[in-house]
Amino acid sequence: MLSEQRLKYLTDLCAELVRIKSCSGEEKQVIGYLENLFKKSGCPDILIDEYGSLTARFAGKRAGNTILFDSHVDTVPVTDQDAWASEPFGGKITDNRIYGRGTADMKGALAAVIVAVQSYLEDHGNDFPGQIVISAGVHEESFEGIASRRISRRVNPDIVVICEATNLNLARGQRGRAEIVMETFGKPAHSSNPQAGINAVYNMMNLLNAVRSLRVSEHPVLGRGILELTDIKSSPYPGLSVVPACCRCTFDRRLLVNETEGTVLQPIRTLIDELQAGNPDFKARAVYAEGTETCYTGEMISARRFFPGWLYDETESFIRSALTGLQSAGLDPDITTYSFCTNGSHYAGEAGIKTIGFGPSAEHQAHINDEYIEIYQLQQACRGYYGMLAPLLSDA
Ligand SMILES: [Zn+2]
Repeated sequence: MLSEQRLKYLTDLCAELVRIKSCSGEEKQVIGYLENLFKKSGCPDILIDEYGSLTARFAGKRAGNTILFDSHVDTVPVTDQDAWASEPFGGKITDNRIYGRGTADMKGALAAVIVAVQSYLEDHGNDFPGQIVISAGVHEESFEGIASRRISRRVNPDIVVICEATNLNLARGQRGRAEIVMETFGKPAHSSNPQAGINAVYNMMNLLNAVRSLRVSEHPVLGRGILELTDIKSSPYPGLSVVPACCRCTFDRRLLVNETEGTVLQPIRTLIDELQAGNPDFKARAVYAEGTETCYTGEMISARRFFPGWLYDETESFIRSALTGLQSAGLDPDITTYSFCTNGSHYAGEAGIKTIGFGPSAEHQAHINDEYIEIYQLQQACRGYYGMLAPLLSDA
């Protein structure tokens, strides 16, 4: 199935992709490289959308499922190059590993998908049911699942395979993620005469104490809903002899299935109402953080930071089909869930499309100094993608 020549191409392709730096918003060059690669391989249907994400579609000659293999090409930046023993964008191959930013998250997975699909097409021509689509998305590290909305509108997949790292296991869900901004308000005054003002930080202390007493949701498979303070700032900052009129903090909230924008904020808003009722000087609000970024195409991409969780039952037919495919390729995956957030938040969480996750590398290998991928994992992932194609394309 995967000859020595194909496996060598896989290693080289992964290293090559890593050598093309592509932090979020700067993916133009790597997308251009992929466009060229798919053109050369004779792909009849390549599209780069307004955000700059690329999809390459291959149609079989019979009716069947549309399978979307979802990857992102953006990476987090390298903030401390001196802490790396290897060149972050060198794609160095040594000790059966490839080193560099994006190897584990997730250019290795994308390379594995490309080689798996190209090999499948070489072996089968168009003699297969349905359609195979590879996506290379942008701005995933900025907001999970937002660029995916356009991809899913174009592709309309029946089944999505999230190619993010699962350590070669089969993921059937993930917690989602929200960023909640809480603000308290006061009244400015000279700090030599604080009784003339209302200190917004003292109001925030009351709110934080109340929020910390909230019970977060829990799920038997996905775990705890988490509500953790990640930053806080008073204003004006620095405060030069002034009672601060505003204090703002952000909470990271991990979302379980069936949690909505409304149900997640409601208990916090109830606390705010209670504190307000007991203290006329207390004023606060809680909202979701919003973000806007620029794509390399010039298009703006923006989102409310609420990315839902999702979970499918392991008895679902498409999950059994994927498992069969992986086993037929010689893998022995556990059925797991992601602990981090992926583009599955859109596909499964927002759009209700059947979604699974399968990819090389352990989750903790992402975003670290001296990020690497083991060549063995890369090859096994490639075998896995190849193996799951036939059962997923014809899954009823
Ligand atoms: Zn990723």
